[in-house]
Amino acid sequence: MPEIEFRNVTKRFGEVVAVKNLTFTIYDGEYLSLLGPSGCGKTTTLRMIAGLINPTEGEILWNGRPIHHLHPSQRNIGYVFQNFAIFPHLTVWENVAYGPEVKGFPEKEVEDLVETYLKLVGMKGKEDEYAVSLSAPDKQRVGIARVLASGAKTLLLDEPMGALDQQIREKFQDELRGIVKKLGLTAVHVTHDQSEAMAISDRIGVMKKGEILQVDSPLNLLFNPETIFVNNFIGEANFFEGIVTSEQEGYLKIELYSGEIFTVTKPTHGFLPGDRVVIGIRKEFPIIYPSDGLSRENYFSGIVEEDRFVGEKRRVIIRLKYDQLIEIKNRNTQQSFKHGDKVDIEVPSLAINVFPYPKEGLAEAVSVT
Ligand code: ATP
Repeated sequence: MPEIEFRNVTKRFGEVVAVKNLTFTIYDGEYLSLLGPSGCGKTTTLRMIAGLINPTEGEILWNGRPIHHLHPSQRNIGYVFQNFAIFPHLTVWENVAYGPEVKGFPEKEVEDLVETYLKLVGMKGKEDEYAVSLSAPDKQRVGIARVLASGAKTLLLDEPMGALDQQIREKFQDELRGIVKKLGLTAVHVTHDQSEAMAISDRIGVMKKGEILQVDSPLNLLFNPETIFVNNFIGEANFFEGIVTSEQEGYLKIELYSGEIFTVTKPTHGFLPGDRVVIGIRKEFPIIYPSDGLSRENYFSGIVEEDRFVGEKRRVIIRLKYDQLIEIKNRNTQQSFKHGDKVDIEVPSLAINVFPYPKEGLAEAVSVT
């Protein structure tokens, strides 16, 4: 199975820089997702792996060799799209048999391949149905069986769940990951849906405006985001500005501009007293208490603006000093507050990430456009 390495890859379409200086590796047997807002360069990256377009600068290595030595047909790639790469006028069987038949495989071998892959995707018994009449998930199952029967060792999946309902999506994510892992394939999955990427991937490459900001495991992206954008795009966060007041072996004390003091016990390197910083606080971690009027470290005090049940959690918006707002996703759905309640908010150290104040300004660093 292939390992695919991007080295300083840039792709321009005229004046448009679609991807910029991409350097990362997709390991053999890995399920990697490319996640980012619309227009950030995900599909362009996928199309370069497939050989449908070539980089303007840099190179892509395929098992250590420059990829341009390999014709797209030699890369054993299966491309799966949102809109089902199947022939609607053929039956399920004919769709899956198409690739091996075109390659001139003997009849028995074609039959075995079709059997194997239809079973794998759970489509046994539906061989004679016309693809056009299938449900959306079954169409996608046939699309996947079709590319696998054609000999794909690398699956490139471009928003493959885009046409599926939410409930089906979760089941399909498990199926798809199961197939990739069972066959030891390498998969590159493009999505703008962070929960889908978190559920299905070994690692996720988070992209913004043509650049890849961080390639990491879902857990590391959540707990150790390297940028403000990743902290907000994966899981959503509140951001506050402040100054580092002391540093000891990576443990920081930060005074926010609004006066609160935060001690960050997660080792955070590269900061010195006097540095202007932004702290990111993940929305699901703070704990809300009725106010006791005392002030403490790692706490905010505020007045509840809104507290609303939004399915599985409550969305609480609290007005802090100087009219700053903090939004909390309270999983304790039994706990509710009224507009105007005075509250204290405890922020566990684990929920805090510290970043240098961004050159481009905080609003731009968070922005998805
Ligand atoms: P989406 O999620 O909306 O599909 P994406 O992250 O896949 O977006 P790309 O389709 O890779 O993004 O596009 C990246 C940028 O390159 C966009 O600004 C897009 O308009 C531009 N682009 C892509 N293909 C072409 C092309 N063939 N000619 C000109 N510009 C292009």
